[in-house]
Amino acid sequence: MKKLTEMSLEEFAGLSYPCSCGRTHEVGIRKIRVAGGCLEELPETVEDLGGGPAYLLADRRTFEAAGERAGQLLYEGGIPFHGKKFSGDKTLVPDEHTLGAALADLEPEDRLIIAIGSGTLNDTARFLSARTGVPYMVVCTAPSMDGYASTVCPLILEGQKVTKPGVYPQAILADTSIMKNAPMPMLTAGFGDIIGKFTALADWRLSQLVNGEYYCEECAALMARAVEKCAENAEGLRARDEQAVQVVTEALILSGVAMGLVGNSRPASGAEHHFSHFWEVDALRWGQEHPLHGNSVGVGAVISASLYELAKSRLPQGFALPDKERILSCLQAAGSPAGPMELGIRRDLFFESLLHAMEIRERFTILRFLAGQGLLNGCAAELAGRFYPAGKE
Ligand SMILES: [Zn+2]
Ligand SMILES: [Zn+2]
Repeated sequence: MKKLTEMSLEEFAGLSYPCSCGRTHEVGIRKIRVAGGCLEELPETVEDLGGGPAYLLADRRTFEAAGERAGQLLYEGGIPFHGKKFSGDKTLVPDEHTLGAALADLEPEDRLIIAIGSGTLNDTARFLSARTGVPYMVVCTAPSMDGYASTVCPLILEGQKVTKPGVYPQAILADTSIMKNAPMPMLTAGFGDIIGKFTALADWRLSQLVNGEYYCEECAALMARAVEKCAENAEGLRARDEQAVQVVTEALILSGVAMGLVGNSRPASGAEHHFSHFWEVDALRWGQEHPLHGNSVGVGAVISASLYELAKSRLPQGFALPDKERILSCLQAAGSPAGPMELGIRRDLFFESLLHAMEIRERFTILRFLAGQGLLNGCAAELAGRFYPAGKE
């Protein structure tokens, strides 16, 4: 059997893998396709999943990008379908209104839900699928986040960010000829979410060394390899080069797959995600718009890698530091935000997040490591001075 690191992304569909870590890793997705033009495979994909009637979920932009063509293809393929198009002007969020509206149009005879979109539409379809038992698939329209292959639903309920259990999509169709035309902040966000794996993987390793937490060498290596490939494609992404978009999309889907393999989000999420989460919750509290998740995560990775540098002499011997300069230069090359001021984060919020982001969840990261050593306050002051030079706030 091939090792995980030797497999192509598409080979992960339906995988059952007895791993050197002692566990058997499984993937409950039946089809994964990342290629230019693969939207045309929609009718056969729907047939493979048991056929229609299909219920399409799109918003105005994703309908234009892929929804209209998807409808045409289903029509030509003789597959019955109907759809819900969210047409408001405001950014769609996965809240009570969106979930309720999506549910209200689901018909009793529907056999498949098809999300045409990225973050919110995918999360909405996943939640609907998990609660109704109707399977779902996704047609990706932007390489903006790593939730395509995930099994949890991040939602906003009563103004609060909560995560509810969901299900895998049965199929993922990622047509790169469509995705490369997504708005640029969505491209840079996907890139930032991937660059954040540099520090997420460091946190996972650190916890293994310090706490003996379960760690899978093969899964970590798999993720690290995908991150490296993305880092090499930073400039290409900025130029909307389809090959670069393909590499980033594959890494984003693989990230979800890796979380599924391990059974938690360790391969994909560490302190950099805690920062992003902390800032988002603050924006929600004030009713403000916040940057796209991945754009915050990229900045979080710069901060987390800076903390690793400050902690260097206290880390276990031989610990491989995440390379802060590399993270910075990759983000800059891709045109992603690379510092908290670029995201519009206030200095006081930045400082507060360094001290308290770790309270978001019980996960050991560089933040808890520094707190345990009594160094976190000093590091927070040091970085606040660095990221917010006097007179430039
Ligand atoms: Zn393993
Ligand atoms: Zn993320």
